[in-house]
Amino acid sequence: MSPTGELIVPDEPIIPYIEGDGTGVDIWPAAQLVMDAAAKKHGKNIAWREVLAGEKAFKETGSWLPDETVEAFRDLLIGIKGPLTTPVGGGIRSLNVALRQILDLYVCLRPVRWFQGVPSPVLHPEKVDMVIFRENTEDVYIGLEFEQGSPQAVQLIDYLHDQFGWEIRKDSGIGVKPISETGSKRLIRAAINYAIDRGRKSVTMVHKGNIQKYTEGAFRNWGYELVREEFADKAVGWDDCGGKPGDKVLVKDAIADITLQQVLTRPDEFDVIATMNLNGDYISDALAAQVGGIGIAPGGNINYVTGHGIFEATHGTAPKYAGQDKVNPGSVLLSGVMMFEHLGWNEAAADIVSALERTIADKIVTYDFARLMDGATEVKCSEFASAIVDRL
Ligand code: NAP
Repeated sequence: MSPTGELIVPDEPIIPYIEGDGTGVDIWPAAQLVMDAAAKKHGKNIAWREVLAGEKAFKETGSWLPDETVEAFRDLLIGIKGPLTTPVGGGIRSLNVALRQILDLYVCLRPVRWFQGVPSPVLHPEKVDMVIFRENTEDVYIGLEFEQGSPQAVQLIDYLHDQFGWEIRKDSGIGVKPISETGSKRLIRAAINYAIDRGRKSVTMVHKGNIQKYTEGAFRNWGYELVREEFADKAVGWDDCGGKPGDKVLVKDAIADITLQQVLTRPDEFDVIATMNLNGDYISDALAAQVGGIGIAPGGNINYVTGHGIFEATHGTAPKYAGQDKVNPGSVLLSGVMMFEHLGWNEAAADIVSALERTIADKIVTYDFARLMDGATEVKCSEFASAIVDRL
């Protein structure tokens, strides 16, 4: 980072990557092929450095997330990863969540847009062009939970009863949902800055503040406060302008449940979305479905203050397809596009997007799109990547 907070990027950066579990072995090399070709076209060369996490790390080092991996991401600032296995209901905690917390990657950035020709379950997928800013370090995701019947859960239930008169069933598991002013404001600040920089029209804060008043409701209130405190000349809250922002970015809010309806029925009313961790998780996948599914949904985890960013496929490891050279590499590839944009390599990023669009327009697609398209040529994961490179 420069003293003024800008990223200084050499033409040959060292970029750490995690191949990923399951289908990581298929999608990573495919995506890397395309990224290398696009970078080369613009006189750049990435010195990839593989770092280990997940099953591969456990087999080779006995640790699911070796310290060297975290240090590589910390030192080299920018990296990319495939999907990692997270067991449900026990075992290791999510490695994805761990990386986000250790490096304080407080924004999970998920742009959702439609690519011409991609099969979609909705009538007008072209109206979906949203960018989700999901808070990454708080909420129930923080993992402060006690198992049902554990001494801690019993003690906490008793304490809450004695101190506050709260009646909680004795056989409950207990989780904590912290939402802070600091965490909320830095997330919403990043969303508003993004909207201003990219000429976006609005930022919608999505919350369940009608029910969870002092967590999700406070998130909304802090957001409006922030607009008045820091963005008075460039953004304006709905109540302060009656929904008529002029040439400023409009900051509004919406309840989470109605949002999940309206992103379907009135998608053009949503632009940038700022929300907390769990809502953001649901909304991201729901939106991804409208534009062709998680096979092509990219993501980035970013700390805009330190400059750290880890870009990642948003789907899981799809273990039933692992090693079959079958699944769509689009998610990790478009995460690479986001990474290129973050590095300032905008032309190479745009080239990948346009080559991907032309490949899909030529109906050369992997199984997930082929099963929904008429007259498609179904190709393997690696063949899809080669077809994109041919069109670069
Ligand atoms: P998943 O791996 O995302 O797979 C669910 C379904 O999504 C697949 O069966 C497949 O659908 C489709 N899909 C996934 N990747 C695709 C691709 N590249 N191309 C086309 N379609 C794709 O979800 P899961 O089975 O619930 O989770 C498996 C493991 O991944 C779990 O351990 C979970 O914790 C982990 N996970 C990791 C991340 C991450 O690392 N960021 C995120 C989510 C889940 P069809 O069967 O219909 O073809």
